[in-house]
Formats: sequence, structure tokens, C-alpha cells
Amino acid sequence: MTVTTERSVEEFTASPRQLFIDGQWVDAASGRTFETPDPSTGDTLAHIAEGDTEDIERAVRAARRAFDDGPWGRLTASDRGRIIWKIGDLILEHADELAQLESLDNGKPFAVARAADVPLAADLFHYMAGWATKIEGNTINISVPYMPGANFHSYTLREPVGVVGQIIPWNFPLLMAAWKLGPALAAGNTVILKPAEQTPLTAVRLAGLMAEAGIPDGVVNVVTGFGETAGAALAAHPQVDKIAFTGSTEVGKLIVHAAAGNLKKVTLELGGKSPNIVFEDASPEAVAGAANAIFFNHGQCCVAGSRLFVQQNRFDEVVAGVVEIAKSIKLGPGMEEGTQMGPLVSDEQLRRVTGFLDSGRDDGATALTGGTRYGDKGYFVEPTVLTNTTPDMKVVREEIFGPVVVAAPFQSLDDIAAAANDSEYGLGAGIWTQDISKAHALAKKLRAGTVWINCYNVFDASLPFGGYKQSGWGREMGHEALEAYTEVKAVTAQL
Ligand code: NAP
Ligand code: MG
Repeated sequence: MTVTTERSVEEFTASPRQLFIDGQWVDAASGRTFETPDPSTGDTLAHIAEGDTEDIERAVRAARRAFDDGPWGRLTASDRGRIIWKIGDLILEHADELAQLESLDNGKPFAVARAADVPLAADLFHYMAGWATKIEGNTINISVPYMPGANFHSYTLREPVGVVGQIIPWNFPLLMAAWKLGPALAAGNTVILKPAEQTPLTAVRLAGLMAEAGIPDGVVNVVTGFGETAGAALAAHPQVDKIAFTGSTEVGKLIVHAAAGNLKKVTLELGGKSPNIVFEDASPEAVAGAANAIFFNHGQCCVAGSRLFVQQNRFDEVVAGVVEIAKSIKLGPGMEEGTQMGPLVSDEQLRRVTGFLDSGRDDGATALTGGTRYGDKGYFVEPTVLTNTTPDMKVVREEIFGPVVVAAPFQSLDDIAAAANDSEYGLGAGIWTQDISKAHALAKKLRAGTVWINCYNVFDASLPFGGYKQSGWGREMGHEALEAYTEVKAVTAQL
């Protein structure tokens, strides 16, 4: 049975969606549109305005004016917080509609979008709303050795960075928009958001809800379009003060280059190849935990537990358990009731992931289950467990971004930290053991921005999230996110 589509969803996808610039819905300057497909069939789901350089120009002008002349900066922090809170409320009011749009556009099961993506997005705005009134500086006692006897009053101000460009990926389209917009707005910035071309729908819908919540014109602008044009123009724009990017490490490096022109601030949330480590004394839940770590969101998680390490004498049993779960996962369209795993987001990702599966096979890895595309319609890939890998294989080193885990045994606590850290990435890690001292000792040794002990994929608006090494710069969520959206000004008065 298929989930009954909300009428608002049908209306939303029936006509071309426009750009949201300076509080107005407008066509792209070029008049062009592009199609976003339903990844379960490949059929066209909706038409979207294809914004490019000229539209970014318009959006930056609007965001610049909204920042430099108000009204955003003239509102009290309390009023700003109230508007941001209202965005969270409106997301919850429209939860079914947003979850359906997300499921249709991205392919993820409706039930998952409804239970996780949408409430998490709302919670992020609610959490950040509270911060708007709590951004504080310090008073500092200064000494100034070369001015003996002088008296000073020194303090710091935390001020918004200014106009922020935000470029987001397709794996959690609404949630990534929330992670980016929430702290930027709480800190008083204005924004141009460029959603992923594969999944623009919920960001466009969110723009409407933000206007309804009372976000003033020009404060949030949403320009749909392609990375190479709209995204690149935003990253390079001399009037943009900061760029926040989530996506591939490859494009992250392009962003850094593009941002160099005016040395805009950059935060990056990039790829991962996260180790998930199961010790011999792990509780039986570790098996389901290991499966969830890789198969959640079809493996399209930057933090996916894609390298499973199991201590030697539990290796066969744990891996067999993960294989059994993989075989039992029900694949289907996101909007079909009972679907546990939907299609990958795009034909490109299907080809990319099956390319990795081919390379694993060629290099001598064994697929205990899966290993191929599922069906011949849509972009489905079978949940896959690979063994007999070596540390130099492409499937072990590179981010696959699909439901593919490589499993390897390890001997002892002494050798696992080095093996787990043997990656250019450092985003997440999981540890499964009943020995809590061992867990914390290992957590300290892992070079990763997030470590989960006896759990995986636990996210909260108050927990900072981000990467070591080539997994990124800076943190999202928590008060750390606000720091990345503020500048610190030191003010000194001689008394
Ligand atoms: P991507 O190219 O890095 O896309 C992320 C965002 O960057 C999209 O909005 C994209 O626009 C934009 N973009 C692309 N090229 C750009 C440029 N030159 N300048 C500015 N913005 C640009 O990722 P992808 O191609 O969709 O996926 C490829 C791989 O990236 C995946 O297989 C996965 O390994 C990784 N990935 C990681 C994450 C994560 O959360 N860390 C998320 C998604 C993908 P378009 O949509 O138009 O390309
Ligand atoms: Mg799509």
C-alpha cells in the first residue's frame, strides 16, 4: 500500500517551483528550469527554477541589504528568537507534507522522514531560537605593560559574520537546511541557501514556511540550481562573508579555493569512512547496531559506519548477524508502506556505488550478501556486506555513500585504534563493549569528531557535529555552530 499523498504535496509538485529571493517567488533570470526525478522510478517528479550566476547576484544583493540596512539586525534578539521558534512550529505543523516531499524527492522511507528528519529539523530551530538571546561577550581585565597606571574597560562583542552562503547535499535535504539556517539566523546573519540539485523540494517549501514565520525579506534566499554554476558563484562571491558547505571532500576543496578571493570564512562538513568497532564483550545489540550504522538512510550518511571491525573470536557471528539483517531489509519506494530501504538518490549515485562494488569484486573482496543493483527500475542497491578486504582496497579507503559495509577482524585494543584511524577522514566512530573504561580509553584515541558508545547515529541539536582531518572544518549544531557564525570584536576604552 502506498502512503496517501497530501493534496498540498500534489499541488506543490504539479507546477514549476521558483527561486525565493528578497521575499519574492521569482523565475530564474535565464527562464530555465530543471527536473528532479523520483528516484524509485526515474520519472520526473517536479520542475525547478535553474538559478545561476545572475540569480546568485540578485540574492546576494538582497541578503547584503537585509544585513547592512536591516531589518534583521534591527530586531531584538528576542524577536529574532521568536521567529526562529515559529519556523520549528511550522515544520511540525507541516510534518506529513514535508516528510512526503522528502520521501518522494530523496527516496528515503516516508516513515523515516516523518520520524527522524522532520522532527530533528524542527528541534534544531527550536534549540537555536533559544540561543538568539544568549549570545554573549566577556569583560576582560587587561594589563598593557607599556602603559603603566592606565585604566581600561575592555569587553568583547559577538557579532554576526554577515552574508552567508550555504550549500547543502541531498542525503538529508531538510535537516541539512535546518542545521545551516538555524545557527546562522540565531546569530543574526542573512543567508543564500543553495540546495542539492537532486533534492530541492523541501528547501523550497521551507522558504515559504520561513516567510510565514515572519523572516523579513532578503534574510533567507533560496536559489535552486547546479553546483558548478549557482554553487560556484556563491562560493566565489566577493560580497559573501562566509560559506558553509556540506558535501563531498572533493567539492569541499573547490570551495576553499573559490573562497580565497575575498578570504571569506569557510566551514565544511565533508565525507567519512567511519569505523564501527565491536569488541568480544559487546552485548548482542551490537549486531543490529552495526547494521543500522551502515544501512540507515541507505548508507547515504557522511557518518555511516562503513568500516566494521569485529574482535576476532566474535567476527563470524557478528558478521553473520549483519548479513541476516541485510537480507531481511525490505527495499521499495519510499512512499510504499513497509519500505525499510528506498532507492539511492540518483542514477549517478547508483553508478557510483555499483562501480565500487565492481572494484571490490575485482580486488578480491567477497560479498557475503548483496553486491549488485536491486531490480531494473529506479536506483536501488542491495544492502551489501564485504569481507576478505585489505586495508589498501578502494572499497576500504574511499567513501562509497551507499549500503555497503566492509568487515574486518581485529585482535586487541592495542591494534584497533591505529586501524580505525587509518583513514584520511575523521568524522564518526562507534564502539561496542560492556567494559566502559575500555570504551572511554578508546574514544580518546580515535581521531573523529563524534564517537558513539553502544549506540550509533544518535544526533541532537545540542551536540556539536563535525570532522577531524579531511572530514571538515568547524562544527554544526550545539553552541559551537554559533561560534562559526559570529565574529568577535574586542572593544577597549581608556577610563
Ligand atoms: P557534491 O557535489 O559535493 O554536492 C554537495 C553540494 O555542493 C550540492 O549542493 C552541489 O550542487 C554543490 N556543488 C557541487 N559542485 C560545486 C562547486 N563546484 N561549487 C559549489 N558547489 C558545488 O556531492 P555529490 O556529487 O552530490 O555526491 C558525490 C559524493 O559526495 C557522494 O558519493 C558522497 O561520497 C559525497 N557526499 C557527502 C555528503 C556528506 O554529507 N558529507 C553528502 C552528499 C554527498 P549539485 O547538487 O548541483 O551538484
Ligand atoms: Mg530528486
